[in-house]
Amino acid sequence: MRIGFIGLGNMGAPMAANLVTAGHAVTGFDTAAPMPAGVTPAASAAAAAAGAQVVITMLPNGAILRAVAAEVIPAMAPGAVLCDCSTVDVDSARAVAAEAAAAGLGALDAPVSGGVGGAAAGTLTFMVGGTETAFATVRPLFEAMGRKVVHCGAAGAGQAAKICNNMILGVTMIATCEAFALADKLGLDRQKMFDVVSTSSGSSWSMNAYCPAPGVGPQSPADNGYRPGFAAELMLKDLRLSQQAASAVDADTPMGELAARLYATFVEEEDGRGRDFSAMLPRFAKRPRG
Ligand code: NAD
Repeated sequence: MRIGFIGLGNMGAPMAANLVTAGHAVTGFDTAAPMPAGVTPAASAAAAAAGAQVVITMLPNGAILRAVAAEVIPAMAPGAVLCDCSTVDVDSARAVAAEAAAAGLGALDAPVSGGVGGAAAGTLTFMVGGTETAFATVRPLFEAMGRKVVHCGAAGAGQAAKICNNMILGVTMIATCEAFALADKLGLDRQKMFDVVSTSSGSSWSMNAYCPAPGVGPQSPADNGYRPGFAAELMLKDLRLSQQAASAVDADTPMGELAARLYATFVEEEDGRGRDFSAMLPRFAKRPRG
């Protein structure tokens, strides 16, 4: 397929590289990042989009997505599909989908989980919102960039799934970290704590697959000095998106709200920026009851 790829940063570059490897013709544009090998550079987002059957965007936030979409939609060929893989607010995803539909284009919101490692390995999970037709067009590309793809529903459903998942993740990571810190102060060995909880009702992905305690459980960023992995500021972004969405639809999410507040403090007032989101464990471990 002919693909336009806009936003070739930490995630976009390896995703585009996997499309090239799968034999697709990829034309790319980024305001700052260099083009990965095999991607033809374009002079603008509109130039990358012109003539493409699918335009993929992988951008920092909803405001940038809206600006890029306003530029590329008029340049896209009739019947082409605009597929945004960024994590953005549900309202921006739906607004961009409506603009694309009004211009006779398909549109998908298809945020990912799996991080930079998953993008490089081609093992991302895609959660997708949009029409059946647009989904069928882009499906082979998802399969080239990822291992699992779920069509979640209409426009915005992919972003909804993403922020709900990451709200659970933020909350369980905090719960896991504060429990480890409590266990420390109770004199319980961290390995014993892991052995019990990972096979008991307190188990979760945060404990079992991404254990925040160094030297315990499978290899994780904790074993690498809490270098990300998934940076605390990205978790904060996703938690804020969950709270923005919760406000918009009047949903009561007290745990998500508290998790957003704790990550905001960690990132903006403490030493959390640039550290993995599991570095909440050393944060709790050194704090008194507050
Ligand atoms: P990044 O900052 O590395 O990449 C974003 C790229 O967009 C940059 O290269 C930037 O130069 C480019 N860009 C910004 N404005 C542009 C414009 N107007 N036109 C063209 N290019 C522009 O970020 P990332 O880590 O690749 O993340 C991208 C998206 O994926 C974000 O929405 C993020 O929340 C989401 N995400 C990231 C991860 C992760 O682990 N990094 C995991 C899942 C989802």
